[in-house]
Amino acid sequence: VASQPAKPGWLRVKAPGGAVYNETRDLVRSHNLLTVCEEAACPNVGECWSHRHATMMIMGGVCTRSCAFCNVATGMPAPLDGGEPARVADAVARMKLAHVVITSVDRDDLRDGGAGHIAAVIRAIRDAAPQTTIEVLTPDFLRKPGALEVVVEARPDVFNHNVETVPRLYPSIRPGARYYQSLRLLDRVKQLDSSLFTKSGLMLGLGEGREEVMQVMDDFRIADVDFLTLGQYLRPTPRHAPVKHFVTPAEFDTYAALARARGFLLVSATPLTRSSYHADRDFAALRAE
Ligand code: SF4
Ligand code: SF4
Repeated sequence: VASQPAKPGWLRVKAPGGAVYNETRDLVRSHNLLTVCEEAACPNVGECWSHRHATMMIMGGVCTRSCAFCNVATGMPAPLDGGEPARVADAVARMKLAHVVITSVDRDDLRDGGAGHIAAVIRAIRDAAPQTTIEVLTPDFLRKPGALEVVVEARPDVFNHNVETVPRLYPSIRPGARYYQSLRLLDRVKQLDSSLFTKSGLMLGLGEGREEVMQVMDDFRIADVDFLTLGQYLRPTPRHAPVKHFVTPAEFDTYAALARARGFLLVSATPLTRSSYHADRDFAALRAE
């Protein structure tokens, strides 16, 4: 097991709890939903659930990929649950969410990579909770021709797809994926429907250099990506890729300033930033502008 630097104080969070947190948790349980908040052991669960912000994970808890940073189980997933779109939509309506983030495991086992199911969830939420803005955080649909188009046609408000790390680290960190496939996917979303906002992000602390992060930012802007998230990678268990370094809050501020100068509409770059962190309030603030 590789050793890694001690976790700095700025990553400490309060223990989860409180009335709204409990309400969110109860609704997740009663609707038999999975959340990435729990599956990824996200450090922000106390804060987010206390503000009725949760990221739903659809299409099961077993992924066909095996990324070195991710806590989700790898294997052969179960067949899709046809009742899931209605259950997710009902939970979103009951929670009165202003903004919901829907993500999923990768489903390389399905002919369309699960695109039809994601589109069905978007449509069910639109029907049940028309005021809620919808963000999808999708797989890369590698070798799934036509899949991306199906999701774009369902018109989520924000189309999010993470590149996760710099291209040099793909073979060790994201071995089942291709950096340029992810970048092309983001570019193609804009070409298909320029009214959708696109979003992507990276985890920092995996051994990337600053120049490499800047290059990814430039790649994103060439692909017309609107929103950027940068956060500190934390190793979920000793079996996962080690943290190579902790990026200081001041370094995150520098990245944020550099990103804003490049023209991203929304930038979240802090140690605790995750792809969906503050996605609700940041998007609401942008719409109010
Ligand atoms: Fe869930 Fe995202 Fe908040 Fe983490 S940052 S608790 S994944 S909504
Ligand atoms: Fe985890 Fe997503 Fe990689 Fe699957 S594709 S292992 S869910 S990060």
